[in-house]
Amino acid sequence: MDILRMDLADTGSPEGLVSLILKHEPNLPLPVPIEKLALQLEVEEIAELRTEGFEGGLITDTIRSRGIILVKKGVNQPRRRFTIGHELGHFLIANHIPDKDGQFLCSREDLRVLSAKEGDRRAKMEVEANRFSSLILMPPPRLREAFKKHPSPSLEQVFQLADQFGVSKEAMARAYAEYHPESLAFIVVKDGKVGRVYHNRKRFPFVVASRNRSVPHGSLFYQRNMRIGVPSEIDGRLPDLWIDVPRGQRAPALSEQVCLQNNGFALIMLWHERAEDEEEESEDMTTRDRWRAQQELYRRD
Ligand SMILES: [Zn+2]
Repeated sequence: MDILRMDLADTGSPEGLVSLILKHEPNLPLPVPIEKLALQLEVEEIAELRTEGFEGGLITDTIRSRGIILVKKGVNQPRRRFTIGHELGHFLIANHIPDKDGQFLCSREDLRVLSAKEGDRRAKMEVEANRFSSLILMPPPRLREAFKKHPSPSLEQVFQLADQFGVSKEAMARAYAEYHPESLAFIVVKDGKVGRVYHNRKRFPFVVASRNRSVPHGSLFYQRNMRIGVPSEIDGRLPDLWIDVPRGQRAPALSEQVCLQNNGFALIMLWHERAEDEEEESEDMTTRDRWRAQQELYRRD
């Protein structure tokens, strides 16, 4: 690696930082060697976090002349890698100001924040650090290569890519929904109840199933004889199980794939294909065009 911290000066956004890192290091192996990268970018050390109730931390000063990343002991590799990416984000994003004197402390919840209310400065920093971590661990150009090779979305591919990129299945599902050219959503289920929902808000319709409610009846989730860790078939479902279909409009096709996991968890993939009458089709084009334009923008970033 030969990237220097000063190569990243004057760049404040997670997207800008990651584009620059990828430009300087076009041949980063997978999984991205996040510890090595952090040390290369002047993090002094990655040490054990001893503060109870937190997942990660960063010891630094306001001008970021030094940085020590702290990670909770005993967490699995994907979680550890995501936390390091997150703290590296705090270290590199210039306008992130530590809470107390010279320290960031980040909880499990902080590491999951994906959006912040207007004016909530602290939450905004967490959102940006998470975005940085996702982007650097799962660089969109590398995801796109994988999608090109296997264009048909599946939970099998989500799991395979999670392994390949060294991230959790859930983190991969989130990036997958965001960057896969198909219109997808992922539902995290815990003990039969709908939990976190990941979908690209611009492309996937609003998911009506509400949090903490049971998975809707009629879902493949209730199919018998499913084995833990083995994804079901991908099968068509009635779309209004999950999404809002306005009266009088032709319903789009919606497919589902379910995989039961350990400890009462399950992951559901929803795949939404628009109805194929003419009007819908032209709209489909504009959705796709918009998506392409967005990807173009990102490439130029
Ligand atoms: Zn944080």
